[in-house]
This record gives sequence, structure tokens and C-alpha cells, in this order.
Amino acid sequence: MGATLEIRNLHVSIEDKPILRGVNLTVHQGETHALMGPNGSGKSTLANVLAGHPAYEITDGEVLLDGESLLELEADERSRAGIFLAFQYPVSIPGITLANFLRQAINARMKAENPDSKGISIPEFRRLMKEKMDFLHIDHAFAGRYLNEGFSGGEKKRAEILQMAVLNPRLAILDETDSGLDIDALRVVAEGVNKLKGREMGALVITHYQRILNYIKPDYVHVMFQGQIVESGGADLALKLEEAGYDWVRAKQIAHG
Ligand code: ADP
Ligand code: MG
Repeated sequence: MGATLEIRNLHVSIEDKPILRGVNLTVHQGETHALMGPNGSGKSTLANVLAGHPAYEITDGEVLLDGESLLELEADERSRAGIFLAFQYPVSIPGITLANFLRQAINARMKAENPDSKGISIPEFRRLMKEKMDFLHIDHAFAGRYLNEGFSGGEKKRAEILQMAVLNPRLAILDETDSGLDIDALRVVAEGVNKLKGREMGALVITHYQRILNYIKPDYVHVMFQGQIVESGGADLALKLEEAGYDWVRAKQIAHG
């Protein structure tokens, strides 16, 4: 129970240029938060920092997962602690099937926990894949395809959602998973997230547009602007942004100095 992510006064720079300037955000287990904001406001920077991307310099603040510092962990340790990041642009790996890739991911995790582990057995892995693919209504043949090679936008997202289901994270971060997706692909992502979120998994859905939030209902919506969260509210805040645009946020920030 109770995976809580706490981001406190987080300051992050890239090449001495401050990008995040004091971000505060708490996501409790099972909650869905949407992080919105204009391009360049720092949304992806936050996602990358949470996933452990090495290019960013944390100059102040802290990130806690269940009270333990996340920032000291390597990216693979964060994954084992329960953080999953769905990439905006996933890479292709020709020659490696999706099933192979997932089996290796599971084995790497098992070996990290216990160096003597022989990894997941083939029958056990088959059972797990079948269960997850049935749960997500994914055709079994999909697992035999080379990872992301020639995948449509929708298939790439389906592969990410399957990875998410197999790795069973406690907090999933989806960075602009909606950009460039047609409505059917968007539904695949939303259905997958909706099925997995809830008691076990919290979600941080990062998006410039309100559209995906018609399908994934957030409990909370936050607006990032120039590296800070400047507004927080319920699902209605996203609708307000859809109508008023980000100019409303800009104007309000300027008025407040
Ligand atoms: P968003 O995802 O909200 O569009 P980003 O986090 O991608 O915003 O970018 C925030 C700011 O950080 C932008 O001004 C961007 O130019 C800058 N930035 C992001 N990544 C890098 C990088 N690797 N090197 C230099 N500047 C970067
Ligand atoms: Mg971005």
C-alpha cells in the first residue's frame, strides 16, 4: 500500500541554465494527475529527471518515493522501485522481438534482486504474456514482432502499454503520449492506462492538449509555466485551459509579478 511520490522544491538545470525552478507535487498511490503547460515549460524535463536521465543537474530540492530519496538511485533501480516512463519517441530495436525484450527486462530485474536468479521460465513467461495481452486486448502475434520496427504510432503505444502492464509499476509517467496519435491509437493508450491505474498504480499524464484527458479522467490537473507549477485544480481546470488557452495562465502570472 501507499506508494507516494513527493517532489519538493525541485530545481533542475541543463548546462547551467535553470529549467525547473521549485516544483512541488505529490502523487499518492492510485491517483491520476495531469501535468499540462505550454511547450518549453519544463514538463519533459520533470519526466526525465524522475526517470533518472543523467543529463540533468539537480541544484536543489528532493524527490521521495515512499519517503526514500529517488534521486540517488540509478535509472534501473528507479524502475525496480516502481517508476515507469513511457517515452514520447520510443526507439526501434530490429532483430529483438517484443517478447524477447520484455523477457530480458523481467530477467534483469530478477537478477538485480537476486544474483543467483535464473530468470523467469519460458512457460511462466508465456503465461504472464498471455494474461497481460488478453487483459489489454492485444493480439498474441504482436509479441513476436521486432520491437517498434515498422510499428504505426498506435502500435508503438500499444507496445509501451504492454511493457507497462508487464513491469507493473507503482507510478507510470506518460510524456505527451497523445501527440500525433489518431483517435483509435489514443483510445488504446487511454484504455490501457485506465485498466492499470487505480488501487495499484498512480499515473502522471503529461500533455500539452486536453484531448487525452477526455479518455483518461484525471483526479488533479496541474499547470506548469516557466519551470513552476502555477495552477492546480480538478479535471475542470483542463477544460478551462482548452477554452482559454495558456495565454490566460501567462496573463495571470504577469499580473501577479
Ligand atoms: P516541455 O516538455 O514542457 O515542452 P522541456 O522540458 O522539453 O519542456 O523544455 C524546457 C526547457 O528546457 C526549454 O527551454 C528547452 O529548450 C530546455 N531544454 C530541454 N532539454 C534541453 C537540453 N537537453 N539542452 C538544453 N536545453 C534543454
Ligand atoms: Mg515535452
